Amino acid sequence: MSWLLRAAAEPTLSYYQSQGGYEALKKALRMSPQEVVEEVKRSGLRGRGGAGFPTGMKWAFAKADPKEPRYLVANADEGEPGTFKDRFLMERTPHLLLEGMVIAAWALAARQGFIYLRGEYTAPYRALQRALQEARQAGFLGRDILGSGLDFDILVHRGAGAYICGEETALLESLEGRRGQPRIKPPFPVNQGLWGQPTVVNNVETLANVPLILQMGAEAWSRIGSRDCPGPKLYSVSGQVLRPGLYELPMGSTLRELIYGHAGGLRPGRALKAVIPGGISSPALTPQQLDVPMDFPSLQRAGSMLGSGAVMVLDDTVCMVGACLVAMEFFERQSCGKCTPCREGTGWLRAVLQRLEEGRGSADDLELLSDVARNIAGKSFCPLGDGAAVMLLRALERFGEEFQKHTRGRCPLKDRVAS
Ligand code: SF4
Repeated sequence: MSWLLRAAAEPTLSYYQSQGGYEALKKALRMSPQEVVEEVKRSGLRGRGGAGFPTGMKWAFAKADPKEPRYLVANADEGEPGTFKDRFLMERTPHLLLEGMVIAAWALAARQGFIYLRGEYTAPYRALQRALQEARQAGFLGRDILGSGLDFDILVHRGAGAYICGEETALLESLEGRRGQPRIKPPFPVNQGLWGQPTVVNNVETLANVPLILQMGAEAWSRIGSRDCPGPKLYSVSGQVLRPGLYELPMGSTLRELIYGHAGGLRPGRALKAVIPGGISSPALTPQQLDVPMDFPSLQRAGSMLGSGAVMVLDDTVCMVGACLVAMEFFERQSCGKCTPCREGTGWLRAVLQRLEEGRGSADDLELLSDVARNIAGKSFCPLGDGAAVMLLRALERFGEEFQKHTRGRCPLKDRVAS
């Protein structure tokens, strides 16, 4: 199935146009900006970066603020471990993002757009720079775009590799030249974003869906995927499957379909232990939860989250305590330090997990892990702290037996794998 990836064979403008590229922009420019907002609202598109907020509603909030200028920012700081969907889109079909941004600019009456790009993404940076040049030469960017009266251009800003800059307000701080740390909300960026102006921050995949919605029409687009959560979805699949990679499926496809139907299932002789469904901050699911639809509400009901749609498959050679330790090392390193529960707590959790993993832990350590995690969850300034704590609390609930075994000595799995 191919919607977003229909023109991913070549990143050039000529190829993109041969696949119908920029026709959606022409259509949008024949509509009024308000009609474009209504069309996106009607589609039911929800943000693909993790929060799942309705895109049309976000645009409407920004439009309702009379302050000018308004800004549009594509969040391309794809730092969630296991996620590589935006990288693929920008490298292989950069004009899809640019077209989505110009349509959004028309709807919002924005004159300047930014792509906040993860610093390590060198190949997408080059692809975007080439695409921007092509789009300017063809009149899809710049002054009076296609004779519509819209003046709009895009600047690519490369981040410096901080995970926290994927959080929209930390991203805006960084874009303004300050240290990337989250801002208090409210006010929300739609009212007080970049330099205090109304700003829409949308994920790359979200914006890439916009041309598709305009081209197909909101109703046809919303028939892809589930009723609550329509549209196509890019799932990044990694871990112990035979065919890891990027899969485009209707939103709400099940994990079973994704892992066994598309990613080739597990290696011969191995059993499934856990699936992390939405990047490292999403709580791991058990093999009994494979029929959960991969969309925002279903995964929330299952005690996890869709996040960025990064599916990590863990088989029975993986130690869950070790997996949590690796995740916590990441959170400790990436904590921006602004609030105490996350800054201090992630380090504590990492130290206790390390003790358990090395066979130096005790039964009290399990209680300590829960206690510290409960004191981070809901008490942190931004979702990084919550994500670290909730991921661990769910692992303690769902894989408690494995944690218990670690209180009686060295990781039992290591001995089994070694013998
Ligand atoms: Fe920074 Fe962590 Fe607090 Fe977020 S939760 S503001 S990353 S210290």
